[in-house]
Parts: sequence; structure tokens; C-alpha cells
Amino acid sequence: MTRTAALSNIAAIDAAHHIHPFSDMKKLNEAGSRVIARGEGSTIIDTNGKRYLDAFAGLWCVNIGYGRTEIADAVRAQMDELPYYNTFFGTTTPPTALLAQKVTAHAGPNINHVFFTNSGSEATDTWFRMARVYWAALGKPEKTHFISRRNGYHGSTVAGASLGGMKYMHEQGSLPIEKIHHIGQPYWYAEGADLTPEEFGVTVARELEAKLDELGAENVAAFVAEPIQGAGGVIVPPSTYWPEIARICKERDILLVADEVICGFGRTGSWFGHQHFGFEPDMAPVAKGLSSGYLPVGGVLVSDRVASVIMQTDFNHGYTYSGHPVCAVAALENLRIIEEEKLVERVRDDIGPYFAKAWHAFTDHDLVGETQAVGLMAGLQMAKDKKTRERFEKPDAIGTWVRNHCVENGLILRATGDRMLASPPLIITEEEVDFMAKTLKAALDAAWKEWK
Ligand code: PMP
Repeated sequence: MTRTAALSNIAAIDAAHHIHPFSDMKKLNEAGSRVIARGEGSTIIDTNGKRYLDAFAGLWCVNIGYGRTEIADAVRAQMDELPYYNTFFGTTTPPTALLAQKVTAHAGPNINHVFFTNSGSEATDTWFRMARVYWAALGKPEKTHFISRRNGYHGSTVAGASLGGMKYMHEQGSLPIEKIHHIGQPYWYAEGADLTPEEFGVTVARELEAKLDELGAENVAAFVAEPIQGAGGVIVPPSTYWPEIARICKERDILLVADEVICGFGRTGSWFGHQHFGFEPDMAPVAKGLSSGYLPVGGVLVSDRVASVIMQTDFNHGYTYSGHPVCAVAALENLRIIEEEKLVERVRDDIGPYFAKAWHAFTDHDLVGETQAVGLMAGLQMAKDKKTRERFEKPDAIGTWVRNHCVENGLILRATGDRMLASPPLIITEEEVDFMAKTLKAALDAAWKEWK
């Protein structure tokens, strides 16, 4: 496309024809889209030649960074050999089977199967249906309710948006659908009141127990949560939270689903977020870092507990492109790079700690109430009064202001309300972390002058 259309025209063409996700199109078209033309390493370059450090890895996904020709070469070879075949009618393809083996090898001894999708949202719909089929097959068809969390994110399909706890999504189109219930999130800074983070972790986890008492655990299929809430603001739960959730799910016999769409594939310094927190899910949707975004591919990792039941029945579910061979090759090559370059270990032992030091240094800033970082996933809470944890009246406005300041100065970060979020490629260098810290500091200094 860029070969045939004048690059200067792209924003106008886009404004005329393209509806963007999660966007106020009127405002967006007045401002005009930034047109990204190229990427290399952790840097993206727009059509004016301006360079940005992408400290958000696209949309939490470009874990191996941009411009890896190995992936392009592998994809090209697979395209020549077999561009597509389905996995429905007793067939598979070599890359599909090999990817199933490789992805489950990293997921712990009790997870040995995967169901492929094209995205995280489809993965959510897949485990949602699979959970009900699982319980029905066990003679418990009344276990049909689901519990998730306010401010969680699980995708944009009807089931995904319903399980997610985003009010602004529920407001459009009569969501959530029936039998989905939301409990509190482990967001101590905003909701922990006078409790210590550890006390709050237990208290908020026990909302699950209370909800199970209310609904009857015999009617509940599963609880789902992100190990670390991503889109909700990179909210790292207190250390007490996950052990308590895992205990409750086990004792009350409901499935525990860890949404690994962001946390998976090294982001936290472990292969998966649940490994970082030391619990074992029954199912885990994945996407994003599985292919580093080079091609769309997702899936649901399925534990032996669930697979052994599902595989005795006909699961009437699937996508034309489930296990797409070209996407599978891109994912295989991506995982090979993560393994060979020891990127997970790099995040855990090397660049992760370096990044965390730079990030936590912001706790001294007047505007900053709290910083959280696990691996290369970080949230920075802005506050009007850091002593009392008082927030700004218009949290979205200050977040957007700081983000725009960063973007103007060549740094891509994301804002969720009054939290600044970072999730850089796992190959980010120390110099790039220094640039990020310097640019974010300038933005926070300017914001403090403007907003205090
Ligand atoms: N789950 C989580 C935790 C996510 O962050 C996302 C996407 N940001 C999804 C599911 C949905 O994934 P996708 O956008 O690929 O459908």
C-alpha cells in the first residue's frame, strides 16, 4: 500500500474510511492519525520520519521488538509451502502441532493442551464456552455462572466485554450478558482505605467467597482474572491476594482462569504471570506475546483437569483460522527467539531490575503517589496529594496530558485515567530505559507545574 499511495495522503484516507477501535472518531479525525510507517528494535518511525521509543510494545505485544527478519523469512517459506489449511476435519499442519507442543512446554507440568484462536478476545469466548461444556460433561450443567472483577479486561467480544469490568463498555449494548458477576479489584491505592496492602489483598479476595455464598458455588463455573490487571492500570495485587483466590477456587470447586494475554511470554520475568505469583490455573487465555504481534494468534492453555474431560466430548467450537499454519510459524519463530536470546531471564535478572530502579525512582516526585513494576510491566499512580492519596478530579485529563507530553517528545507510554503505564519490548536497552525515564520526568515536572 505504501508503495502505491502518497504517504502524505494516508491520514486523510484513513479519516475518510477507517473506524478505529475505542476511539472518538470525530475528535480523532480533527487531530488526524499519526501514521506509523516502520519499526526497528524498540523504536517506531512515523511517515514524517519522527522516531518514538515504543515503551508500550505496540499494544503490550511486540515482546521481541520490531524488524526481526527471521520471522519474515519463516513466514515467507511457510506461505510458499502451505499458506492455509484448517484443523477441523481430522487434519492438522506441522507448524500447528509443533506450536501446541512448544507453547504448552513452557506452561508447567499440569498444562499440556492448547486450543488455538486468532486473538485474546476469541480466547476468552473459547474458555467461557469450554468451562460450561466441562461442567455439563461432569453432570453439573447448573454450573453456568461466572465471576470476574471490576476494571478487569478480557476482550471486546460480547463474552469478553461482559467478563471485563469496564463500565464504559457495559454502557454500550446492554452488557454484561446474564450470569456474569463482578467483584472488587486488588487496587489498594484507590480502594484500600486504611488497610495495609496485605490486609486489603485478603479482604478483596474474600469478596469471591462472599459472591460464591450468594450464588451458591454449585451454580458457578469459573472465576477469571488477569494475574496483573493490564488495561485497568497495571495494578499489581498485594502478595496475599493470589494465594487466597487460589485457596477459595480449590475449596469451592470452581475453575480458576488466569488471563495471560498480557502477562504471558516473559512480560513479568516468568514465562507466565501465574508462575510469577505461584498458582496454577485450570485454563489460561493467551495471545499478544505468543507471536509478538507479528501475526494474529491466540489460544487457551488447558490443564489436564479440563482437557481430560473436554477430550471425551464433542466441543462444538472453532475458528476458520484456529491453528493457522503461517501464524503458527510466526509464533514458533518468536518463541525460538525468546528462548535462544533468554529474554525471560533477561527480564527477570537484568533489564527488569534496571527498569524497576528507574521506575521506582519516581516515588520521590511530587506528582507520584505510587509506582508498581513487575518485570517489564509497570504502573505509575499520579496523585494530587501524595500524603493523603487524594486523586485529581479529572483523572483522564491529567493522564492524557502527561501521555501527550511524552509522545511529543518521542516516547510512547499509555495512560489509564491517572496512571501511566509502561510495557516495553523485552529487548529494550539500558540507554532506552534512561531515555524513557528522562522523558517521563520532564512530562511529570511540566504536569506538576500545570496541575498542582
Ligand atoms: N485479555 C487481556 C488481559 C487483554 O489485555 C486483552 C487485550 N488488551 C484481551 C484479553 C483481548 O485480546 P485481543 O485484543 O487480542 O482480542
